[in-house]
Amino acid sequence: MASPGTLNAFRLPPLPTIREIIKLFKLQAVKQLSQNFLLDLRLTDKIVRKAGNLTNAYVYEVGPGPGGITRSILNARVAELLVVEKDTRFIPGLQMLSEAAPGKLRIVHGDVLTYKIEKAFPESLKRQWEDDPPDVHIIGNLPFSVSTPLIFKWLENVSCRNGPFAYGRTQMTLTFQKEVAERLTASKGSKQRSRLSIMAQYLCHVRNSFTIPGRAFVPKPKVDVGVVHFTPLVQPKIEQPFKLVEKVVQNAFQFRRKYCHRGLGMLFPEAQRLENTGKLLKLADVDPTLRPYQLSVSHFKSLCDVYRKMCEEDPLLFAYNFREELRHSKGTKPGKEDKTENYRF
Ligand code: SAM
Repeated sequence: MASPGTLNAFRLPPLPTIREIIKLFKLQAVKQLSQNFLLDLRLTDKIVRKAGNLTNAYVYEVGPGPGGITRSILNARVAELLVVEKDTRFIPGLQMLSEAAPGKLRIVHGDVLTYKIEKAFPESLKRQWEDDPPDVHIIGNLPFSVSTPLIFKWLENVSCRNGPFAYGRTQMTLTFQKEVAERLTASKGSKQRSRLSIMAQYLCHVRNSFTIPGRAFVPKPKVDVGVVHFTPLVQPKIEQPFKLVEKVVQNAFQFRRKYCHRGLGMLFPEAQRLENTGKLLKLADVDPTLRPYQLSVSHFKSLCDVYRKMCEEDPLLFAYNFREELRHSKGTKPGKEDKTENYRF
């Protein structure tokens, strides 16, 4: 393994193509697992270039599959590449790559949703949050069903400066369904502006790097794919606990086309809804007739700051969940989003 600072002139030797690897190890994509592979190494090189300068960097690739992006990362002269893959069928093909890149590729058979990357790389890579980003990068083309929950989990990790962000402001380059990539980067007033836009943009500088047409994947997915680059901000634009921001943002976007006071009102029990919504909007200096997608991150900052004060004045307020109230009145069972938030400041 090259130590930081040494010239790392590694290039992979000639290898079977990804298509041949798929044939050799019988790696047909499993449709139910949304496996779509990138075989064009010019595209995988492009994804990796968008991650920035990887010379002597430590890279964590999520869901390497048959290893197209993996090859491009290895050719980017990294110090070490750690891949976490859930499907055992891909391990032998990855081992072949590991033999072609001695000492550089570490393969873990595991689940990215539970893998603890904060323990995987040397402690010496850790930087202060205010410093430049560390030489640690996350790259991945995961199934869409995994990438969206994962980005929420990682955004919470950014906010807590733990998980992959125990190293500092670790940069991420990830693929999403094109619409999700557009939501992540959408600006105030745009059609795609959503909960995801605020949650990502209050914590990170988010860049929609480029779009890969669905036809570039095998098998071809129904949608195009967006490559998004995230760099955590030194100073988050909202300085409140992640769960509190998530609650305010989620409620605000409850009724996307209605005035924002409608969704924000759902933060409060019905008996005091009108009065408390008025108080929240007045103290936060937010026009109640703006639509949620017209609110800026700084509007959300004011709303979260005032809501936090209101929660401190009324210790039961944060646990209030209007869906639960609705469920009780209808006598129905809890759904996925019905759990009462139980957060202590
Ligand atoms: N990165 C490869 C490429 O671009 O060709 C494969 C992409 S395929 C869309 C997603 C890959 O992620 C598959 O290899 C799949 O087995 C793997 N995967 C899915 N869920 C995972 C999880 N929770 N943890 C680790 N790997 C996962």
